[in-house]
Amino acid sequence: MERIGAVLIDIDGVLTVSWEPLPGAVEAMEALRAAEVPLALVTNTTSRTRAAIARRLADAGFSVGPDDILTAPAVTATHLREHHPGARCLLINTGDVRGDLSGVPLVEEEDTEGAVPDVVVLGGAGSAFTYAALNRAFHLVQRGAALVAMHRNLYWRTAGGLDLDTGAFLLGLERAARTEAVVTGKPSGAFFAAALAHLGADPARTLMVGDDIETDVLAAQRHGITGALVRTGKYRPETHAAADGTPDHVVDSFADVPALLERSGR
Ligand SMILES: [Mg+2]
Repeated sequence: MERIGAVLIDIDGVLTVSWEPLPGAVEAMEALRAAEVPLALVTNTTSRTRAAIARRLADAGFSVGPDDILTAPAVTATHLREHHPGARCLLINTGDVRGDLSGVPLVEEEDTEGAVPDVVVLGGAGSAFTYAALNRAFHLVQRGAALVAMHRNLYWRTAGGLDLDTGAFLLGLERAARTEAVVTGKPSGAFFAAALAHLGADPARTLMVGDDIETDVLAAQRHGITGALVRTGKYRPETHAAADGTPDHVVDSFADVPALLERSGR
């Protein structure tokens, strides 16, 4: 393996489940900090701002701040500012991430009488994904609005099992409107490029650690990053066996990552 100089780390299912730290994760993060490994936490989480995630992780014992965290909403804001400057955006999202969407004009659903949104932005599924909201998105896209999705995850893991996520709704919307969304979070190349740029890291010397074999691991590998799959969070042996590719590394948990880096000769 190429000597690893930087690490990208998924949060949910790798460091925490339902925001509770997984065994050994806090200590492994300390080991990476002690070794001065540049690292970024990369997440498709759409329910909290970077600042709120940093507070939550710090409360759980992890030594991280907002600047260590890259979220799908933050990368979406960069995309919207670059590709749709000044465009009115209808955001359908469960959770408040406005703090990470600075410079993006958001149109409230109830204010849309006069001002027709130019872009429909789908965040994370949940109670905001009502029939009325999704049908409004469908109408706008038919009338030419751009469709941007923060991710297309089909489900996420909670303490109570798997819950249906944005990707499941997005497939229907794309099919009905005969269009394809621009996806800004993982597994998009734009997201990994933003993460590498954030650290000034070289893909060939960067390790991505995730519990989602497709969205985290194989997607990173497609962009030249070394992938490591952990057997925690949403990991399932059957999903692993059925995947389209092979992770560069498979480890039991994030606790094994410092040793993996040492073996890389760091
Ligand atoms: Mg995860």
